[in-house]
Amino acid sequence: MRPTRPGLVALATAALLLFAHTATADDDPFAGARAAMVRAVALDAERTAEWIGKTALAPRVMEAMGRVPRHLFVPPELQDFGYLNRPLPIGYGQTISQPYIVALMTDLLAPEPDDVAFELGTGSSYQAAVLAELVAEVYTVEIVEPLAAGATDRLDALGYDNVTVRAGDGYFGWPEHAPFDIVVVTAAASHVPPPLIAQLKPGGRMVIPVGSPFLTQQLLLIEKREDGAITSRQILPVIFVPLTGGH
Ligand code: SAH
Repeated sequence: MRPTRPGLVALATAALLLFAHTATADDDPFAGARAAMVRAVALDAERTAEWIGKTALAPRVMEAMGRVPRHLFVPPELQDFGYLNRPLPIGYGQTISQPYIVALMTDLLAPEPDDVAFELGTGSSYQAAVLAELVAEVYTVEIVEPLAAGATDRLDALGYDNVTVRAGDGYFGWPEHAPFDIVVVTAAASHVPPPLIAQLKPGGRMVIPVGSPFLTQQLLLIEKREDGAITSRQILPVIFVPLTGGH
């Protein structure tokens, strides 16, 4: 048998690894992590089937989750954790929600391509970006000014030109752009803000965590029927940062 030449073998292996990396990474070193996050979300949907009434979320929603680069919505020092299926701090005491919760809320909102959506609580603007992949327009309000400014810059840089961010108290909605097909509240509210019900279109859907701040809230799916009647369904217990503001 011929003696092996470790140096050459090592070199060949290194070249192969380099090739494999460039071949699979497709210019996005986070592509693999993002795909793993989508699998983790799918697993959570299966595990919570009894609450959410289905074993899988809408394929369109899962595809959007697979497209939005979540690592660019977290602080730079947390980028490597950007695809963990968990919430992360984004500064100012606020968080980017857990991917499974973002996916679930988006699924419950049943987004359609022509829909106009309102979000209370822009935060990192990740939820807004996921919605922007699926609807015509997203209007989102954030009460912490630097977060609103950061979200505007981020969405511009990523080319999300169908999202408009405003700094202010989202409790009052955005009357100039109402009525909305979709309303999503991403901060824990003690009650459903009446202005948001008023700004929901007949046939529209709202998802909102309602309950005590700092404790567990119930995620509610509220629907306004064509005749204006309101229905509400509890989906599952969640924990969100509190709704603030002087309303
Ligand atoms: N949707 C966000 C989650 C942000 S956490 C994301 O995808 O990252 C909730 C956000 O709601 C926080 O940034 C908080 O500052 C904001 N918020 C709380 N009360 C608010 C209010 N009254 N009006 C607008 N934003 C509010």
